[in-house]
Amino acid sequence: MKQTVQPNIPATKAFLKIKERQLLIDNQWINGSTEEMIDSIDPATEQVLARIVSAQPEDVDHAVSSSRLALTQGAWPVMAPSERSRLLWKLADLIEENIDELAELETLDQGKPLYVGRWAEIPGAVEQFRYFAGAATKIEGSTIPTSINYQPEGKKIFAYTRKEPIGVVAAIVPWNSPLVLTAMKLAPALAAGCTVVLKPAEDTSLTALRLGELIIEAGFPPGVVNIITGYGAIAGKALASHMDVDKVIFTGSTETGRSILDSAKSNLKKVSIELGGKSPVILMDDANLDLAIPGAANAIFFNGGQVCVAGSRLYAHSKIYDQVVEKVADIAKGMKLGHGLLPSTQMGPLVNKRQVEQVNNFILTAEAEGGSLVTGGKRLDCPGFFIEPTVIANARQDMQIVREEVFGPVLVCQKFDDIEEVTELANDSKFGLAASVWTESLSTAHRMADDIHTGTVWINCHSMFDASLPIGGIKQSGWGQDCGMQALSKYLEVKTVCAVI
Ligand code: NAD
Repeated sequence: MKQTVQPNIPATKAFLKIKERQLLIDNQWINGSTEEMIDSIDPATEQVLARIVSAQPEDVDHAVSSSRLALTQGAWPVMAPSERSRLLWKLADLIEENIDELAELETLDQGKPLYVGRWAEIPGAVEQFRYFAGAATKIEGSTIPTSINYQPEGKKIFAYTRKEPIGVVAAIVPWNSPLVLTAMKLAPALAAGCTVVLKPAEDTSLTALRLGELIIEAGFPPGVVNIITGYGAIAGKALASHMDVDKVIFTGSTETGRSILDSAKSNLKKVSIELGGKSPVILMDDANLDLAIPGAANAIFFNGGQVCVAGSRLYAHSKIYDQVVEKVADIAKGMKLGHGLLPSTQMGPLVNKRQVEQVNNFILTAEAEGGSLVTGGKRLDCPGFFIEPTVIANARQDMQIVREEVFGPVLVCQKFDDIEEVTELANDSKFGLAASVWTESLSTAHRMADDIHTGTVWINCHSMFDASLPIGGIKQSGWGQDCGMQALSKYLEVKTVCAVI
């Protein structure tokens, strides 16, 4: 597979001309405290795109104290909500103006096909900033009638609540959908009046750094957003355990989520964690298969399965099971793999070598445990971290591949006979992020939406996101939700004021 692909957008080429990137602190681009850098690699070619700073605990200290100062002094703490709103809207406009460049950068850095960034994720980031620009002016407390019976003679009680920014937020983001996941954290945090130290994933920091340039251009005061690049175990850990961070907001694996909880114990900072999933896709026997079969294939193969809500467990009714498996496998076989910048590409590479090896091991174990490989299963023999879209039939609930998150293009298929059985199978997971049900029966759809224990249930669709729709997991898929007005509450504290008047 020929992979010599160049960006088309002059701004992308200009951005990539700077080979050594810096940290953003106080609206200034500065070097890290050590000379240690990390290669940022195009996963489709394994070529180095740029080098990012491996931030150390001293850099994290610097960023956190800048964010603390911005929270308490200067323009930000006294800024009118309408002005915060204007800045957020301005940032949305700037992202939109630079959408082609940002989409190209995301493809080069992460590997995803260009259409994913250009038409779904970067517009999704724009919408996050617009949605929460509207929210900034609607942060309200309430007046509360009390029943206190011991107030001084002749006096009354006047009680109310205020919603105040939670403080300095550490936002730690994964590599699968870097810019839109960053926007999901930054937009509500800034709308709430917090300041943020952002740490993107070490594999995919480039769009966050470009966003930093747009944040300065939009006019955010210094220190309101600082950006620290680096390894999770060094920079991420220093941030999550920092004594002057008030809240850590994290999206990533369940395993790292546990480390974040350990780190956050240091000063009992508040924590929100959006973690992994193993989402069931359920095809009832009355499903419209013309929609459900491509829908099931897209649920797992979109972004190479590197999606927290990827529909990685397919449950098809026994009457349609053989047909569904065969046709989903046909779609998988026909998928064009390649560099994300090539217009023909339907699936790009996985993000790095470690990921491709992990996915490969999952497939080998699934076969050893009795799964039947219907299609795929191999790493492509070329540069880049490509693995074939894979379908495994005859899966059982006790198999590793059914129980663990693979985070790659691997679908496991099982059959069922009735609604009770499939509900039990779908719920038999430590994860509880999302599910989809495909049926023409309104009653079956809503009955299952009621019975399935996940944060989201989609009906006749999968992976439908919007800035207004809360997304988050139950069980070991996390605490709290991104998107929607609930997300704002993660960045606010409630203060009660009770006065004798
Ligand atoms: P990861 O957990 O390896 O890393 C996520 C981020 O945490 C990175 O920035 C990393 O540098 C940092 N990190 C790693 N170790 C750390 C530590 N000890 N302390 C502090 N920070 C640390 O996750 P990933 O592999 O980048 O992303 C894939 C995972 O993200 C999958 O499990 C996926 O399901 C999950 N995810 C969840 C959602 C959701 O909304 N629930 C959305 C997208 C991705």
